Amino acid sequence: MAAKIIDGKEISAAVKEQVRAEIERDKLSVGLAVVIVGDDPASRVYVNNKKKACELCGIKSYEYALPENTSEEQLLELVDTLNSDKNVNGILVQLPLPGHLNEKKVIERISPEKDVDAFHESNVGRIMIGNYAFLPCTPAGCMELIHSTGVEVAGKECVVIGRSNIVGKPMAMLLLHENGTVTVCHSKTKNLAEVCRRADILIAAVGRANFVTGDMIKEGAVVIDVGINRLDNGKLCGDVKFDEAVEKAGYITPVPGGVGPMTIAMLMKNTVTAWRIQNEKH
Ligand code: NDP
Repeated sequence: MAAKIIDGKEISAAVKEQVRAEIERDKLSVGLAVVIVGDDPASRVYVNNKKKACELCGIKSYEYALPENTSEEQLLELVDTLNSDKNVNGILVQLPLPGHLNEKKVIERISPEKDVDAFHESNVGRIMIGNYAFLPCTPAGCMELIHSTGVEVAGKECVVIGRSNIVGKPMAMLLLHENGTVTVCHSKTKNLAEVCRRADILIAAVGRANFVTGDMIKEGAVVIDVGINRLDNGKLCGDVKFDEAVEKAGYITPVPGGVGPMTIAMLMKNTVTAWRIQNEKH
């Protein structure tokens, strides 16, 4: 039987609606600063989508579009200014930055309380020990999608393909916090297909089109496809060969319309959390 499609658009709309209603109910004045350096077209699309989501939720967005040749000093100065701006609750620096800028240095400069992407080392550390204020947006969005299926994570075999700091590793931690039995795969993993076939919950965060084929999927598994790949014909596709996987999986996310919209919805949620952290201190 074909898998049920997990509708990321619908679920993300519900999350954004909750955020909007919370802001309206509590009359919050929430602000998100979005910094973009250079004119990478994909980054521009992401930034525009984030601004649109802010508008929908009633969050003020402040865009800082800086030229490609911005110096590190100038960018760090802007981050400092935003760190001390009371109207700005969240700061998002759109990655990747142009090559001459040190991403790590810039991220570490963001006040952890405003780090709504949860990329700052102190927030990453807090995720590790399970004492977090912000969850990283993409893995948190994946967890929402898994929850929407009603499948319990506890005790399940969970396989994450990919070990990046922004997706694979935090994803594995979140699954572990929910008592999944987690295996993390990467480019040096042996017998990858065999490992994947054990998965009740399979997360693909590789960045390679059609990497996960139907024969790598356990019958009835929950398959979450994080990958965003652009094909030669201009179409977007995930890491999972959808046509094959849909015949084997129990639940599957499409690309587009799966994890992507959830990432932005979770960013909105984190921005409200940031407001609360900054304004409800004891
Ligand atoms: P990275 O390139 O940082 O990481 C890719 C991971 O895949 C690495 O750990 C790498 O292993 C592993 N990998 C690569 N080739 C293989 C292979 N042949 N076998 C097994 N593992 C392999 O990517 P990201 O984590 O940043 O992103 C992954 C994908 O998710 C991309 O398509 C990206 O566009 C997408 N993405 C989507 C988001 C969304 O909102 N939907 C948000 C963020 C990312 P190794 O470590 O050994 O090199």
